Amino acid sequence: MGKSFNNGLALKSIAILGSTGSIGTQALEVIRQNPDRFQAFLLTANSNALLLIKQALEFNPEYVVITDQSKLDEVKSALRSTKIKVLCGQDQLCSILEQPEISLVLTAMVGFAGLMPTLAAIRAGKDIALANKETLVVAGELVTSLARACGVKILPVDSEHSAIFQCLIGEEQNPIEKIYLTASGGPFRGKDRDFLANITRKEALKHPNWVMGEKITIDSASLMNKGLEVIEAKWLFDLDVSQIDVIVHPQSIVHSLVQFKDGSMKAQMGLPDMKLPIQYAMAYPERIENSFPRFNFADFPNLSFEQADKKTFRNLALAFDALNCGGNMPCVINAANEVVVAEFLKENISFLKMSDIIEQCMSEIAFISDPTIDDYLETDKITRILAQQLVTNSKS
Ligand code: NAD
Ligand code: MG
Repeated sequence: MGKSFNNGLALKSIAILGSTGSIGTQALEVIRQNPDRFQAFLLTANSNALLLIKQALEFNPEYVVITDQSKLDEVKSALRSTKIKVLCGQDQLCSILEQPEISLVLTAMVGFAGLMPTLAAIRAGKDIALANKETLVVAGELVTSLARACGVKILPVDSEHSAIFQCLIGEEQNPIEKIYLTASGGPFRGKDRDFLANITRKEALKHPNWVMGEKITIDSASLMNKGLEVIEAKWLFDLDVSQIDVIVHPQSIVHSLVQFKDGSMKAQMGLPDMKLPIQYAMAYPERIENSFPRFNFADFPNLSFEQADKKTFRNLALAFDALNCGGNMPCVINAANEVVVAEFLKENISFLKMSDIIEQCMSEIAFISDPTIDDYLETDKITRILAQQLVTNSKS
């Protein structure tokens, strides 16, 4: 808005999709601390009208979008005396993303809902700071090829992928031999299936190192998050499945590693704080100063690494299977997972039942080797219906 230059720096106008979530609020914190570099052009929320209104009054964006139609009047009336335009629904969101002022779109909404707005932003030629990994899981090939065709950068926000991205700076001529995605192991690291059979929603929501939205917290406890990240990495860095490995690192200090063809490995490290990768993606290619806490070696005398237990945490193995299979299979695993996680959070199914239902969806949904966007939408829809039925059957 008004000012577009300050101290010779162009002010970056950012659209934050999912501004009321864990990533969204941390991105706004980065903007709050750097008002001479960033401004919020668009803020969106699913249903948290109160927080969206509060954010709009503080950051004064051009637009806000609320997905939940029933909250539209509340947001409109609260922002009546401002110049902020209030919109509702995905179609309106997708068309706003074409506004020429937007220089970066941060996709911080959760789940499949991120796919269409991300595609719209790419078509509009906007660089993407991608937190919404589900978009790349569902339709990685389509999204990354469209981004290439439109000359759009996809800057990873996920800490592991940001780490790989940072390790690759200056290595453009050097092929990757392998990457290692680190995983904290979640709250149930080292536990067996008997233990997992009885764990509660509350226990699964207690992540040892990160405070995140509920869906990704459950995904982290079941290791599905790491599985989704394997698929995300394949598309972001154009790798074969055989080039991607997962290593459990409980301290979450080494955020991931790249191994080059001479055997040399590079890692990116730091305290587990999502503001770091968020800020890096927002300011790329610059690094900007901040006052976030610094790493202290005395606090971490030991950094340890161990193999991931794919037998106990079957979701990780299923994600590798989905990636090996290709086509619409990653879309199936994502849709089934979204359903079972929501049902686990409602305490309708057990922790281990989640993997059973996902596996059954993978074996029953018709395989499509070369899906179009319509195929992805249909696969998502029918997988959700099947997963929901399986949840119902499991209760009767
Ligand atoms: P969250 O649940 O805290 O926030 C989700 C945001 O998306 C909210 O603003 C919500 O209003 C919005 N939203 C939810 N459903 C929507 C819908 N159907 N349509 C439009 N908007 C919707 O989630 P989060 O933890 O911030 O995660 C957001 C994304 O970032 C996820 O894809 C997650 O995997 C990824 N991510 C998160 C973290 C983290 O530390 N939280 C780390 C890495 C990656
Ligand atoms: Mg991650």
